[in-house]
Amino acid sequence: MVEEFDIVVRNAKTRFSPDKLLDIGIRDGKVAEISSKIGRGEVEVDAGGNLVTESFVNPHLHMCKVYTLQMIGEDALKLYQEHEMGSTMSAIELASMVKEKYHESWIYENARKALMLGLKHGVLHFRAFVDTDTKAKLEGIKALLKLKDEFKDIVDLQVVAFPQDGVLRDPGSEEWVRKAIEMGADIVGGIPWIEYTDEDSRKHIDMMFDIAKEHDRDVAMLVDDAGDPGLKTTEMLAVKTIKEKWTGRVAACHARAMAVYPEPYFRKLVALLKQAGMGIVSDPHTGPLHAKVLELLREGVPVALGQDDIADAYYPYGRNSMLEIAFLASHLLWAMTLREMDQLYDMITVNAAKVMGLKDYGMRVGCKANLVVLKTKSVYEALTYQDVPACVIGRGKLIVENEFKTTYHL
Ligand SMILES: [Zn+2]
Repeated sequence: MVEEFDIVVRNAKTRFSPDKLLDIGIRDGKVAEISSKIGRGEVEVDAGGNLVTESFVNPHLHMCKVYTLQMIGEDALKLYQEHEMGSTMSAIELASMVKEKYHESWIYENARKALMLGLKHGVLHFRAFVDTDTKAKLEGIKALLKLKDEFKDIVDLQVVAFPQDGVLRDPGSEEWVRKAIEMGADIVGGIPWIEYTDEDSRKHIDMMFDIAKEHDRDVAMLVDDAGDPGLKTTEMLAVKTIKEKWTGRVAACHARAMAVYPEPYFRKLVALLKQAGMGIVSDPHTGPLHAKVLELLREGVPVALGQDDIADAYYPYGRNSMLEIAFLASHLLWAMTLREMDQLYDMITVNAAKVMGLKDYGMRVGCKANLVVLKTKSVYEALTYQDVPACVIGRGKLIVENEFKTTYHL
């Protein structure tokens, strides 16, 4: 007998219908039906009244650097965090020494380990920033493109060609970025704030946009990653986006200087971000300053949370759990009302998907069936326990089941 669906998830609590349990039917990789009682599936999953939502999205992870902390030591980490992040540039210089040892083979193994951890935690969409410059050359890019290909049937892995040490400061890196894009990297990166002068920062943005326009690619840059109110590359990026009509195709990560901007300048920047349709990815757990996340959300700017780092020169922890990232952000942003918890959950799901430009993402009929069946009944409980999902469905396939139990011998 042919079943009506490939998978049916039964007794699911959803965010849009919290008072009624629903069944979700999945067919041909897509959500085919959501209603109170549907036909049988070849695979039947009982959610048991727990929450079922979209899979998690990690829109910012330095994936070529994961698990390199041991190779670099703690000096860069200390420099990154002290003096109100005034020594970030020195930290980046120190951390870049590891790139003399860059090789595709170990980067691939480390990145794969991080990706598998992500799958376990229900993360099926990653934007991987990969150093692409005169030191790293294409070693990281080759490793990540191999991983992208290996997981192409279940994971969205966007590879960003990222000139970590600057473009004018590191002459020749522009050509490596261009080569990476020609090889198949998805997104043109950038880090304009790291250049020596404002003029160079502007040139940096222009040069990276030239590559994006040549190859019709989206853009994601790291901006203003220090506690200096004089850093204004978020504004420069927004203005360039508007001028080039790249609206909705550009994201900015970090933007920590925003924390110390005077209010009138911040308001002007918000207006530019809205006009540019620019998303912001914040990672409050990896530095003592962070973008004004709640204010940006209030203004309607799409804001997402990113893992940023896993055990590298900038952050020692990380397990690719977006619930953990949201939990940490809840404290660092002092966002603890039920409404704010919902916003936090949006920032690791729908908002992050928007920032990454993911198509057909959502808990709706017709969308790709990328779902997590949690072990908890509400967003509040999900954030409290940060448990791994009971199971993870990727493009209509059951790809992860997490089982463990605790026995009390009392
Ligand atoms: Zn970062």
